[in-house]
Amino acid sequence: MHVLILGGTTEARRLAELLAAERLPGLRVTNSLAGRVAAPRMPPGEVRVGGFGGADGLAAWLRAHTVDALVDATHPFAGTISLNAARAAATAHVPLLALRRPGWVPVEGDVWHEVGSLEEAAALLPALGRRVFLTTGRMGLAAFAGLDELWFLVRSVDAPEAPHPARMEVLLDRGPFGLDGERRVLSGHRIDVVVTKDSGGAATAPKLTAAREAGLPVVVVRRPPVPDGVPVAADPAQAVRWLREAHGRAAYGSG
Ligand code: NAP
Repeated sequence: MHVLILGGTTEARRLAELLAAERLPGLRVTNSLAGRVAAPRMPPGEVRVGGFGGADGLAAWLRAHTVDALVDATHPFAGTISLNAARAAATAHVPLLALRRPGWVPVEGDVWHEVGSLEEAAALLPALGRRVFLTTGRMGLAAFAGLDELWFLVRSVDAPEAPHPARMEVLLDRGPFGLDGERRVLSGHRIDVVVTKDSGGAATAPKLTAAREAGLPVVVVRRPPVPDGVPVAADPAQAVRWLREAHGRAAYGSG
């Protein structure tokens, strides 16, 4: 059985590690990375890098490499590849599972402003503060480029490219981030407002706690929905169970 994991996330890597540990007979795992990060953390198993050329290209890849199961373990905000995966899986008749960590839920003391897009986040910012901790990644900075009266601390894995805000300092870093460090970032840069995507997961959640402690507002960009009809696993262990069932069906030819 050949499994293709669309990756680029902690969960995708964890799933590949769990599958490597399972040692299911005849199981082949290929991890696919988009190639955005210069030095990605490599998962176990085979790795391919770069786009497929849309849904049709992905469907052709699934057929050409006789893929038996597809796991879309991409980031909750990687909406294009998730739609492509749904279309390609349907075209190539390959079972598809979405592996999505649950989103964050506000707790008492949080001052969240939920918005539907980076553009909406940018429109809200001038009313919330002047010194912004922007943690939405280096892609999509164009949405904040016109806000010349605000100052931004942009945290990203690789350096951002233009267009980006005029008044900006870049903090090159990669999670997981600890609470003490996040407290230092907020106080050290005199941050008034934090902007984040609802990425979910523990690795980047301490900024929410630090913001709550400091009484700072957080603009939270809601995630796009999982494509219709695609089953969802909330963590890598659930995805392994789904794959084990698919593997059983493949091994015993029961459907
Ligand atoms: P996207 O907008 O949904 O995808 C854009 C294009 O990138 C896709 O159409 C596809 O190209 C290619 N692509 C994306 N993920 C791929 C993968 N795993 N393997 C091969 N090709 C892939 O995606 P994005 O938001 O730019 O994210 C790119 C990657 O970074 C994803 O793998 C995601 O898991 C990871 N990531 C994203 C975020 C985020 O906030 N968006 C955060 C952390 C990590 P073709 O159409 O040519 O196939």
